Amino acid sequence: MHEYPVTEQIIGIATKHGLDARASEVSVIHLVVGEQSGYIGESIQMYFDIISEGTLCEGARLDIKSVRPKLSCPSCGTLFERKPMSFACPKCGTDGAPTEIGKEFYIESIEVI
Ligand SMILES: [Zn+2]
Repeated sequence: MHEYPVTEQIIGIATKHGLDARASEVSVIHLVVGEQSGYIGESIQMYFDIISEGTLCEGARLDIKSVRPKLSCPSCGTLFERKPMSFACPKCGTDGAPTEIGKEFYIESIEVI
């Protein structure tokens, strides 16, 4: 449910971008959404279709790039995706620590026509 306000923001930013560029419509919005960002791409898409109605963003395609979370090994510095039931570094076996990778949430780019 909390995707609603963030989707409104995305549409606000994209619409302003379209107006600034004197575009007739926003065609594609590229979003980067980490799997641990707390936001779900499908929900954003659903709200997007509703909220964008009547704006420059109506009919635009949402291109959502999903980012899998990675752990960082404190011993050897390897970045890796954790396996189910394990935090162990694939190189040295030390338990990895959480990183910011997978928590991303931002607009990468906006395409207008
Ligand atoms: Zn390691």
